[in-house]
Order: sequence, then C-alpha cells, then structure tokens
Amino acid sequence: MIRAVVWGENVHEQTNETVASIYPKGMHTCIADALNEDPAINATTATLQDPEHGLPQDRLDESDVLLWWGHAAHGAVSDVVVDRVANAVWSGMGLILLHSAHFSKIFKRLMGTPCSLTWREAGERERIWVTAPGHPIAEGLANHFELEHEEMYGEPFHVPEPLETVFVSWFQGGEVLRSGLTYRRGAGNIFYFQPGHETYPTYYDENIRLVLKNAVRWANPKSGRLKDIDAAPNRTVANALEPIEERGPKLHADNEDGFR
Ligand code: ZN
Repeated sequence: MIRAVVWGENVHEQTNETVASIYPKGMHTCIADALNEDPAINATTATLQDPEHGLPQDRLDESDVLLWWGHAAHGAVSDVVVDRVANAVWSGMGLILLHSAHFSKIFKRLMGTPCSLTWREAGERERIWVTAPGHPIAEGLANHFELEHEEMYGEPFHVPEPLETVFVSWFQGGEVLRSGLTYRRGAGNIFYFQPGHETYPTYYDENIRLVLKNAVRWANPKSGRLKDIDAAPNRTVANALEPIEERGPKLHADNEDGFR
C-alpha cells in the first residue's frame, strides 16, 4: 500500500465562498478522495492549521508520497517543516507539487531557482498535451485533454531543466507552459503539475484525477527510504578498503568526524 499525504494550505476554502462551494470539505480532501479510488493508495490529509502543519517527523517517516497545494500562505509555512520535508525527499519520499505550489518554500528550496512564471485568471480553456507518451504518469490518457476553465500559467517558467517533460499546456489566450515536469533530488522523485486553480472544479476532472493517481504510483520510493541521508561520516585511513599510506597535512584526527 502506498501511503500518501495530501497537504492543503486550507485558506481559500475558509475565506472565499466560491472555493468553499466547490470544495466544501477542502481541496485536500477532494484530492485525497481521488487518490483513494486507487486500491494501491492510502491517502490521508494534513493542513497548515494542524500542529506542525500536520507533518511531524514520525508522520513523514511513515509517508511514501507527499502532495502539496499552497497559494496564499506560503510564507506561513514553518522553515523547520520545510527542512524536514526536504530531508524526507532526499531520503526518497516522493513529492508532488500542485498548481500554485510552484511558489512554495519547499519547491523553491529543492529547485534552487525563482520558480516564477506569468499568469492570468480568466477562466480560459487549457489544452494539455502528453509530450512523453508511455510515461507512467500519462498512462491511460489520450494524446491530449482539455479543461474548460483554468488559470493561465505561462512561460518562461523559471525552473531547472526537468528530467522529463510529461505535459505541455496551451491556453486559450495563446500562452504555453511546460505543465508536467519531473525531477529527482537526492533519492526522491518530484513531479510538478500545473492545473488546480482554487475557483475551478479541476480536481473533479477524471483526467486530472488519473494523473494524480499515476503520479503517486510513479513517485513512490519502490526500494524504501535511505537512512541518515544528512550524515557525513569520516571513513578513516584505518577503514579504507585498500591499504593506503597517509600523506600531506591533516586537519582532523581519525577519531573525530570533523563536521558535527
Ligand atoms: Zn491559481
């Protein structure tokens, strides 16, 4: 069973009537419901308002894939939790960034770039093209599908060149975006997926729900998590695999680790 956690900022749902009417139980619950349609996935939710944002260390240790939706409150996310999530990704936890999570602290941290893009809120049509036929995240999709209403996100999207571009989107106003991108940071699989503006019913769309389920299966760390990913042990001369002669000046004694 793949253990997925859907993290929702859960702010617009409480402050905007349109969002509350589309997602009465919150966007995170709608997304978790979609994932739980897959018998291989057990999805639960966490929100910004929970203690430690619902992401204490022991929960991250027991999570295979984390999905992240944030927008209005990126700055309210604790840096301690961001550090914790980054470490979990480096150790192999999958991370899926949804829509405005392109500007989340965790995505910017892991990308090392501004992650900025152009945008327009006009309820325009989006046509999503599969640019990597045969990719597990695109399994079961036609060569393209459409959303009648989405927020335009356009190039240039200031992210590192991805490992794979799974989707490219065209918007009615003429812009395009690399809308489905994969990365690997440490042992962790990362997927950014652009659709999901809060005032449209995007997460009820069957194609979107299929992509999310596929993405969780893809991001799941098949061979488990790495231990002590941030340790930097001193492999001393005495512990070298082959006998070596010690030469030159030396800063650290063999019995100290030198870092912490
Ligand atoms: Zn939006």
